[in-house]
Amino acid sequence: MSLLAPSRERLAASEQALKSLQGYSNNKPTDTEFSVFDPSTEQRIATLRNMTAQEAIVEVKTADSAGRAWAKTTPRHRSDTLHNVYSLLMENQHRLAYVISREMGKPLAEAQGEVQYAADYVRWYAEELLRPAGGYRENPVGGSTILTRRAPIGLTLLIAPWNFPMAMITRKIAPAIAAGCASIIKPAALTPLTTLLTVDLMAEAGVPRELMRVVTTTEPAAFSEAVLSDPRIRKLSFTGSTGVGSTLMHLAAKNIVKSSMELGGNAPLIVFDDADLERAVEGAMLAKLRNGGQSCVAANRFYVQDGIADAFIEAFTEKMSKVAVGDAIAEGVGLGPVINQEAVDKLQHLVDDAIALGAELKTGGKQPEGDGYFFLPTVLDQVPAEADIANAEIFGPVAAISCFSTQEEVIWRANDTPFGLAGYVFTENLDRALNVADELETGLVGINNGVPSNPAAPFGGMKQSGLGREGSHEGLEEYQEIRYYNIARR
Ligand code: NAD
Repeated sequence: MSLLAPSRERLAASEQALKSLQGYSNNKPTDTEFSVFDPSTEQRIATLRNMTAQEAIVEVKTADSAGRAWAKTTPRHRSDTLHNVYSLLMENQHRLAYVISREMGKPLAEAQGEVQYAADYVRWYAEELLRPAGGYRENPVGGSTILTRRAPIGLTLLIAPWNFPMAMITRKIAPAIAAGCASIIKPAALTPLTTLLTVDLMAEAGVPRELMRVVTTTEPAAFSEAVLSDPRIRKLSFTGSTGVGSTLMHLAAKNIVKSSMELGGNAPLIVFDDADLERAVEGAMLAKLRNGGQSCVAANRFYVQDGIADAFIEAFTEKMSKVAVGDAIAEGVGLGPVINQEAVDKLQHLVDDAIALGAELKTGGKQPEGDGYFFLPTVLDQVPAEADIANAEIFGPVAAISCFSTQEEVIWRANDTPFGLAGYVFTENLDRALNVADELETGLVGINNGVPSNPAAPFGGMKQSGLGREGSHEGLEEYQEIRYYNIARR
């Protein structure tokens, strides 16, 4: 099969979007710089400063004093500013989408979706912050009245992964700004350009630049050790792998820093015999292929009940095998590259290992010829429980299917993992849907729904998938301290 290539117009528009970044350079990096590459072409697309831990501490000082002033602004002012940000992000949605596609590799149409999703968090918090919730309590034995209120937590450290380079930033920075906090922002070194452009636009829309200090570095360990040792940091919000999250929790423990952790997943997707076949296939395609499968909520383990298995696997395989693969900015592309060659190699190992242990390859299974870090949409059937793919976070366009017979069996298998972020249930029986959702040990469940994330929902995981929630009212409280005044009465 041949890979789709972009038109000249799209290439030119994406180059223009990249060149509009402040201080853009595409030179060979010096000792104090690093480069960003396009996973569709393996070409260098930008070169940035590789900041040291000492430089990061200078940013901490700047942000800390800006945050103290911001904490005193009114909710109305912060809300109006975030509304301006929303409008400017949407005005620049094409530019942002091109940058996302070029540095991360998701198809342009999906990148547009990410811009909307990311901006929706900004709009949600612009609205939510206008309803500050305080409280009033009675002392049960009399003699005093208690007032509770929420205050900004202080300076925050926000660390994001490469897979949603815009949404993973706005999901943190929007509630931080809404609550009255400043932030040190560390994007992944693979995808820093989207963050830089987003923050530029936020500053243009009126958020003081000193409140949002971006640190670009390829030395995250030295960075986090230095920054988390600084007592001015009062909150850590991390999205990334469980291993790094655990390391950061140890570092945060030193100064008792409040931490939110959005970590890895291993989502089960369960299709019952009574599911609507078309709806289940459509939901499974979204849950598997959105972001090329490189999503923490991606369906990782498919469990299909015996009675619907043949029909589901046939229809799903057909759809997967027809997805157009190619450059992220090519017209009509349904699947772009994965992030790098290491990711391709990992997928190849998972597929080969499963086949060696008895899985049946229905479609795909390899990297196509040519440049770029592509991996064909892949379906494996009869995946044995002991295969690596049945236990690892796949993070790519590979579906690992096995069958089940009873509800009890599938619930046990679905929960047999240290992770607990997302789960999916497809059935037309409402009682069954809710009963199974109740039994799943996950923070969120998509019921006949392959895309369960939403700014109004408290996104987050159970077990080793994380601590705390992002989005919704709960996501704002992560950036606040609750305090009370106990007023004596005579
Ligand atoms: P990663 O843990 O390797 O990196 C995440 C971020 O942490 C990057 O910015 C990286 O530079 C930084 N980092 C790495 N080591 C660090 C250290 N010692 N100190 C400070 N920062 C450090 O993860 P990744 O490969 O970028 O992203 C993929 C992972 O993220 C997957 O496991 C995925 O499930 C998870 N993820 C979770 C969610 C969620 O909401 N739960 C969302 C997206 C991604």
